[in-house]
Amino acid sequence: MKKLTAQPKLPTRQTQQPAAQKKRLFGVALPLLLLLGWQPSACQSQQTGPNVEQTPVATPGETPPTAAAKAVVPAVPKGYFLFPIKPGQENFLAGSMGELRPNHFHGGLDIKTDGRVDLPVYASADGYVSRLKQSSFGYGNVLYITHPNGLTTVYGHLNHFKGAVADTLLSRQYQKRSYELELFFEPGQFPVKRGEVVALSGNTGGSVGPHVHWEVRTAEGHQLNPLQWGGFAEIQDHVAPVVQAFAVEPLGIEARVEGRFGKRVFVPKAPLADGSYAWADTIAAYGTVGLLVQGFDRFDKVWNKNGIQRGQVLVNGQPLYEHVIDDVPFPEGSRQINRHVDYEWRAMQGRQLEKLFVDDGNDLSMYTTGPDKGRLRVEAGKTYAVEVRLSDSYGNTTPLRFVLKGEEPAYFKTRSAAVKKPALSYDVSRNLLVITAQDPDTAAVGGNVTLVRGSRRLSLRPSYTDQSRNVYLYDLRAAGPIPSVSAASASASAARP
Ligand SMILES: [Zn+2]
Repeated sequence: MKKLTAQPKLPTRQTQQPAAQKKRLFGVALPLLLLLGWQPSACQSQQTGPNVEQTPVATPGETPPTAAAKAVVPAVPKGYFLFPIKPGQENFLAGSMGELRPNHFHGGLDIKTDGRVDLPVYASADGYVSRLKQSSFGYGNVLYITHPNGLTTVYGHLNHFKGAVADTLLSRQYQKRSYELELFFEPGQFPVKRGEVVALSGNTGGSVGPHVHWEVRTAEGHQLNPLQWGGFAEIQDHVAPVVQAFAVEPLGIEARVEGRFGKRVFVPKAPLADGSYAWADTIAAYGTVGLLVQGFDRFDKVWNKNGIQRGQVLVNGQPLYEHVIDDVPFPEGSRQINRHVDYEWRAMQGRQLEKLFVDDGNDLSMYTTGPDKGRLRVEAGKTYAVEVRLSDSYGNTTPLRFVLKGEEPAYFKTRSAAVKKPALSYDVSRNLLVITAQDPDTAAVGGNVTLVRGSRRLSLRPSYTDQSRNVYLYDLRAAGPIPSVSAASASASAARP
């Protein structure tokens, strides 16, 4: 939450404002000015309960995002690709495809190389070397082999290239007198056979330990999960994903979780005897809410925490949402990870929550949902038995079960003895302005705040008062016509009259 230290200028008529843009939103001159001050107590007694002064607005997500086209993926028979390291032997992964990394989905498998370099790297299928890059950054020394089915396999962080293509690289390097080099080749120039040694493994580029980064890409550049075609005998996985936490988040101005407007994170203890997780207490909720989860997966015999390929949500037995991270457009789709995960929560709280709904602005094609895009509408008096299923590429599945109970929001007030003087802060989330005011008042209902827009004033009563903090909610899309800017008006003083 930001502290109000200067005149805050509020936006009007923002639509589909992604959270990542909110700082910029406050950086531009906007015509709505906020005057925050305490109203006389007479005002408090006549206005109680949640704010109802606003015009109704569309539920978030009613405009369906345009789904990005799925890649044209040829049918890949099981066993088509040879495992590129120690084929036929037990192998271990340090990273899975689709793993949630900072600012990208991990694009391939990180294959361990016994802590060593110079292991032979085998061509995964017949084809030709289509590209080669030598670099101190990113994938380091990387080789691309394009196969007759149109897919390309990518081998990264290599030490050396092998064969005729390596000689070509050396001579070009000599000509250019540069280490950094990228070459593209035509079919027929450097054909390779399945199982041919094309390189030696290494630790080049942005690599923190010896391994081979191995990818499968489509002609359009989509990164595909190499384990989706029946997996590999070299990689064993009988371990189901682990649930670390889940969260329920209000997505609309009317929405509450346990009476409050704010994400609630729940941390279940160890799994039950059958491997599932459960939250014993019923969770009170209301309105349009989103579900989020934090977890990881492991492969057999290794402790690396890897990604979870599939997330499903069923409510009262009916499917609500599903994602499968098997196909990510690179690089533009990979960057959309910051809409797939709760980017701000990770930045502020350090916890990586993965959304189980399709947020505004996310046009990845990995989702299967109804028209509400995985958002759940909770009605008063109804019960929602939620089952989240998390699965890895080998089909090991962990269920997480909890129950939401619809409960109409009502004003409540809880006090904290610590509050001495008033203080204000605000935040913008999903087009909603959330104002929090420390309220040392002992009245039954917290005081109002006044929004000033030109000559118009709007008095907001608190939706609730939690630990002596009044919480006010205002939908920025309900701001009406844009008035002229009044430079003279606002002061963000929290002083009592
Ligand atoms: Zn990698």
